[in-house]
Amino acid sequence: MTETITNTEMVAPICDAIRTGQRFLLTSHARPDGDSIGSQLAMAYALDALGKDVRIVNADPAPDHYHEFPGLDRIEIGSRTDVVADVLIVMECGDLQRPGVDGLQAPVIINIDHHAGNRMYGTLNWFDESAAACGEMVFDVIRALGVPLTLEIATHIYLAILTDTGSFHHANITPRTFDICRQTVEAGVNPAAMARRVFDSNSFGKLKLIGALLDRMELVDEGRLAVLYMDDTMLTSCGCTHNDTEGIINLPLTAREIQAVIFFKVSSTDDVRVSMRSKYDVDVRSVAVIYGGGGHKNASGFTVSGKLEALKPEILAHLSHAIAEGLESRP
Ligand code: 5GP
Ligand code: MN
Repeated sequence: MTETITNTEMVAPICDAIRTGQRFLLTSHARPDGDSIGSQLAMAYALDALGKDVRIVNADPAPDHYHEFPGLDRIEIGSRTDVVADVLIVMECGDLQRPGVDGLQAPVIINIDHHAGNRMYGTLNWFDESAAACGEMVFDVIRALGVPLTLEIATHIYLAILTDTGSFHHANITPRTFDICRQTVEAGVNPAAMARRVFDSNSFGKLKLIGALLDRMELVDEGRLAVLYMDDTMLTSCGCTHNDTEGIINLPLTAREIQAVIFFKVSSTDDVRVSMRSKYDVDVRSVAVIYGGGGHKNASGFTVSGKLEALKPEILAHLSHAIAEGLESRP
């Protein structure tokens, strides 16, 4: 594993590289979430303010409810790019495969990330595992550049933090998180409206899907672990797409006894996509890395090949072990 480096001194060289370049290419991970969208668009608006040329390329479109936030139409979707840039800024990615975009290159690559295990693939690497969201780090860069906190920038920073903390549930929230949020609210962000737009914008189909998923939920490990399953048939029968599954994994955690949730998404190929969430010190990332995935202590994921029934016992055993270890240090 890469050594953990928490080094805010990286902000100055990153700002120098940004001031020097003119053509910028921004990207983040495949299957974007609020932090990847918010970090990229906050950075894009800041670069606009400095008079830079900005292109953003992502492998996948953002879930529908993000599309009412400013600038979503600036994100070009594609699995490869031939954009010529002076500086490539990669946010939220532990390695250069995470974007799922071929052809990402530039003389200067800036890597800004908060995921443990970052591979330091950039010319300039700023890796801060203590950041609650990559958006916190992007905020520091923007302020250091002297760019005013416009409503667009503030909105995307708040979006990044609101979503990546699991709406202020995860263990990595610090005074810094609230200090940044305070500044975004002073810049005009309305937290109630943001929460409604992000969390209360489900389709009726998604409500149906939630019902179907919870109906099939299994409780194991004396009720400490919830297991959710989904396949394409469930999705289509509820009139949903994969984007509608966002956030559903958090629902079982609202039960007091449940310490961790695992969500198996089975597709028509042999790939099983696995997401995990947990409370307090239950470290689901430790399970994800066993299977080549990653993420954070309270939110992580991976993809495995094979039949779910064959894979499941071993994965659940690892998770039960992580729960037992986490409960020992529970506050
Ligand atoms: P989700 O369950 O929402 O897909 O992902 C939760 C967290 O785990 C996010 O921070 C995401 O970036 C990370 N994550 C999910 N899947 C993978 C994976 O396959 N590889 C890595 N490195 N991180 C992942
Ligand atoms: Mn993040």
